[in-house]
Amino acid sequence: MKTTILGHPRIGKNRELKKACEHYWSGKINEAELQNVATKIKQENWLNQQQLGIDSIPSNDFSFYDQVLDTCLTLGCIPSRFKSIEKNNLLNLYFAMARGLQNEHIDVTAMEMTKWFDTNYHYIVPEFEKDQDFSFFSKKIVEEYKEALGLSIKTKPVLIAPVTFLLLGKEKETGFHRLDLLEKLLPIYFEILEELSNLGVEYIQFDEPCLALDLNKNEQEAIQYTYKSISEKFPNLKIYLANYFDCYGNNLNIALQLPVHTLHLDLVRCSLQIDDILQSENYNSETHLSLGLVDGRNIWINNYENSLKTIEKVTAKIPKDKLWISTSCSLLHVPYDLNLEQNINPEIKQWLAFAQQKLEEVIAIKNLVSNEANDYAYLFEENKLANINKSKSKIIHNPEVKSRVANLKPEDSERNSPFALRQEKQKSHLNLPLFPTTTIGSFPQTKEVRSWRLQHKKGLLPTETYQKNIAEEIEASISFQEDIGLDVLVHGEFERNDMVEYFGERLNGFVFSNFGWVQSYGSRCVKPPILFGDVSRKEPLTVKWSQYAQSLTQLPVKGMLTGPVTILQWSFVRNDQPRATTCNQIALSIRDEVADLENSGIKVIQIDEPAIREGLPLRKNEWQNYLNWAVNAFKISASVAKDETQIHTHMCYSEFNDIIADIAKMDADVITIETSRSEMELLDAFANFKYPNEIGPGVYDIHSPRVPSISEIETLLQKASQVLPKEHIWVNPDCGLKTRHWPETKSALKNLVLVAKKLRQET
Ligand code: GLN
Ligand code: ZN
Repeated sequence: MKTTILGHPRIGKNRELKKACEHYWSGKINEAELQNVATKIKQENWLNQQQLGIDSIPSNDFSFYDQVLDTCLTLGCIPSRFKSIEKNNLLNLYFAMARGLQNEHIDVTAMEMTKWFDTNYHYIVPEFEKDQDFSFFSKKIVEEYKEALGLSIKTKPVLIAPVTFLLLGKEKETGFHRLDLLEKLLPIYFEILEELSNLGVEYIQFDEPCLALDLNKNEQEAIQYTYKSISEKFPNLKIYLANYFDCYGNNLNIALQLPVHTLHLDLVRCSLQIDDILQSENYNSETHLSLGLVDGRNIWINNYENSLKTIEKVTAKIPKDKLWISTSCSLLHVPYDLNLEQNINPEIKQWLAFAQQKLEEVIAIKNLVSNEANDYAYLFEENKLANINKSKSKIIHNPEVKSRVANLKPEDSERNSPFALRQEKQKSHLNLPLFPTTTIGSFPQTKEVRSWRLQHKKGLLPTETYQKNIAEEIEASISFQEDIGLDVLVHGEFERNDMVEYFGERLNGFVFSNFGWVQSYGSRCVKPPILFGDVSRKEPLTVKWSQYAQSLTQLPVKGMLTGPVTILQWSFVRNDQPRATTCNQIALSIRDEVADLENSGIKVIQIDEPAIREGLPLRKNEWQNYLNWAVNAFKISASVAKDETQIHTHMCYSEFNDIIADIAKMDADVITIETSRSEMELLDAFANFKYPNEIGPGVYDIHSPRVPSISEIETLLQKASQVLPKEHIWVNPDCGLKTRHWPETKSALKNLVLVAKKLRQET
């Protein structure tokens, strides 16, 4: 039996890559210095795996920004608006594609970004033109292989497979389907494989996670064709086919017959598929299986007893030398190393495993199976004990919370009156103009703001000073918003590190790591809370600062909450009860907060749910069940509000077409969405559905430092006015502004208000 993983975290143990990239972007370090940081990270990762005894170590799993963007560069799939950027500086071209570029010579927008399957990782969406050409452009995959070879490690290069690559992208013109490009794309893959083969590559990992989706016949045939072509050309190359995040589903029979060396199975998401495979007459006894037993998505320890049972079942039919022990997916989605954590309660810590521990688990499982002398029995006993005491622990199980959830009634999820009536009441209560302007919540988190929070947390800044600083920041933000003429203000979220962490830190049932960072997009990392137990609220979470901000102005200040689905979705959640139950527990805490905000004089409350869509199961037949409980959880939190209290929600990175009916069922008075990057394309779903409530389609792409011009904003809003009743339109950025700097934020928001005022005059 051999061991492997699908990919390693790549941001560096202490987020070295994040820091280096940001320094490079701001001109503080040069390319050579940035490359040095990258080299160090890659080498550390490889050597660590080698030392632990992982048999097949991946390469090309490193990325400066995103693996799909890497693939675009590898395949020369570069949108034409970037053509004027010097091709001799690959890295700058790469970052321009990721982030957009604006200087005295050039002004190009970034490529779109969207969620990677059902994770909280974002990838850059490939763009395809009708006469799209490809070329073997960036040699990163070859260079990384050679780099590892320099350390005497023969790696398994990882490459996003052709069909998944095409399906992840988007046609930028009409008149073709992106799968039509397969014929042109395959020769480039051949070139890549040729070069890798010449270097002696034995295994190549093709990431083909689109196999976890419902594929139509065309798509399935494209996959069959791809592997047939590749295996004919490269009969000696061992293809390790990696599907993850769900089972093969209706693609199983096709997958089983593909001419590949190894099929990888995500046995964490889908443990039952192994039975189907073992029974299938389509299983070719030459095909090796990679058992993804160690959870690459969550931070709980493995259950060795269960893993060994699975292996026993498999080895009854398949010889051991045809099996790999592996992680369910890339470890990109978990933090580096639990050993860095000094402050996690040891009772909880024994239940946790980060990437380093997961690598050790992979090895331990192999040893438990292979070592006949039973030298590793102690590992088995230790693991068994930890899993048993988890199931009984008093810090996890709270009977009061369980019974409140069990007693929820349908009326707990409904506002008092229907939207039309609430809208009337809110109109007189809030007195807003046509095209009301607002922002999504956060304002720039300057170095100072971040350092105050950090110093305060470390005990180096007295609470009194910290609170005074935050209060001053809020005062400045309120007066800025009043000055430029925004209508519904926000306090700015300066006290918050992260929209989920802030809430998790104040609720029972969560624990926090100090170094548990995972990549969200580019250099942005998040430190997901670990939701280990029943959730309840100790005291109000946000009332103090919202109330303070409101005391400074006559204009309404929005109270700012994170919704239950998003808190669930962006945390590492328990694997010992259904997600729906956990979500309702969170919803009840948010509901209590809504009531408290309202009682303290807040008239507008935003409950952010950017993660609703990404929670969708990958397969359609499971969607409705999820949407039902997710929408209901949102409504549990919102429905305690009085009619005149305006409930906003906010969502980003979403396609809405197929879930618009459920978004409407959430019945938020106002929804703000991200639309600027797609030039309002995402709004169509709302327009076609005749979405009944108010909408703020984002008119300012906050992911880029570019300042949108007045005419750009106006064009976007005009597009929106053509498809929505203008009485329903709000004017706002795409998302929160915490990652931006003040100068560009100020210019952009001034433009935004100017356009709203102009449109008001014209109507
Ligand atoms: N209120 C949050 C903010 O402005 C919303 C962020 C989000 O949706 N991702 O930062
Ligand atoms: Zn957002």
